[in-house]
Amino acid sequence: MVNERMYGLGAEPSAIRELFAYGMARKAEIGADNVFDFSIGNPSVPAPDAVKQAVLELMEEEPSALHGYSPAAGDPRVRSAVADHIRRHFDVPASPDQVYLTAGAAAGLAISISAITQPGDEVIVIAPFFPEYQVWIETAGCTRVEVPAHVPDFQLDIDALDAAIGPATAAVIINSPNNPVGAVYTRENLEALATLLARKEAELGRKIYVISDEPYREITYGAEVPYVPCVWPRTIVCYSYSKSFSLPGERIGYVYVSDLMDDAAEVSTAVAGAGRALGFICAPVLFQRVIAACIDEPSDVASYAENRRLLTEGLGALGYEFVEPDGAFYLWVRALEDDAQAFSDRAKAHELLLVPSDSFGVGGWVRVSYCVSRATIERSMPAFKALMEEYRA
Ligand code: PLP
Repeated sequence: MVNERMYGLGAEPSAIRELFAYGMARKAEIGADNVFDFSIGNPSVPAPDAVKQAVLELMEEEPSALHGYSPAAGDPRVRSAVADHIRRHFDVPASPDQVYLTAGAAAGLAISISAITQPGDEVIVIAPFFPEYQVWIETAGCTRVEVPAHVPDFQLDIDALDAAIGPATAAVIINSPNNPVGAVYTRENLEALATLLARKEAELGRKIYVISDEPYREITYGAEVPYVPCVWPRTIVCYSYSKSFSLPGERIGYVYVSDLMDDAAEVSTAVAGAGRALGFICAPVLFQRVIAACIDEPSDVASYAENRRLLTEGLGALGYEFVEPDGAFYLWVRALEDDAQAFSDRAKAHELLLVPSDSFGVGGWVRVSYCVSRATIERSMPAFKALMEEYRA
């Protein structure tokens, strides 16, 4: 007899992965050029040359040391390099003890949620939200509380958060630059959140953490991305090298428990404990070392800006409604009918793979990942046109 919940999670792949798998099969059938696969956030920009150089240099090292275990929280040299990077870039007193290396942001988020909650606590997510949050929140025995983003700018809705935060609230997960809408929270918006959290902590007599999920930090189109620990000290940053270093398959990232919070040492000890409990110890060692060597050299993400321009101009001219993204590489497009799944299915008939919004916690939209080749966007326009015409007919 297997665990029912785990069986359910295994049996039902995420909507994104399901569409991605469909795309792979369809490409094998009719040729990759004939499928417009906007399903998944796999970076199309190559990893920086510095990554290849670092790998080649590291391969000269003595293999049993190079490929051996590191301490559970990561190689001390790498934790120091990350802390140093945080200090230099964000002007905060980051110490290596507060850095825990992880297999991407996914592991970091699962660890962070488990570290700072008790079963029965509530964790707030901003809808639309990254679907896997629900899985990690449930695994920690907590309840997800959804707070819709403020429309039409998709910033944090402070009044709605005020209404949602109660005695059981342990944390608010935020993600800026945002997947799926591309919003970047302004400093003013984050300061309003901090003011609210300070008031709520005093009123409720409990600590409320912000878990800042930041895999897209470096992918912006001019917007400032404030460092959340500077605004709200009780912040745990979950960073990943998947997107801005184009290394999603290498599974490398970190949790940084802000040194500025009054319970920093206790929280980072709980992070280590959650890493142990969940089996996320000793993140991939070769890539720990690689990122230490390349930490200031992310991928050149300029082509995402060009993709964004092509896609928004093209879809705008065809009459589609969407949220203008300030960061990440997703376009949040209004479906042409209320049922996003039905719209996504009709798009499929035009070989357009668009992720329906339902698993992000809202209906009526689709997510278009534009981390694809420029040619894919250009060639997809007649399909988007035909889809629009079908609805207008
Ligand atoms: N959080 C968000 C918002 C994401 O979009 C993703 C991946 O797409 C993740 C977390 C997980 O990223 P990682 O590859 O670092 O595990």
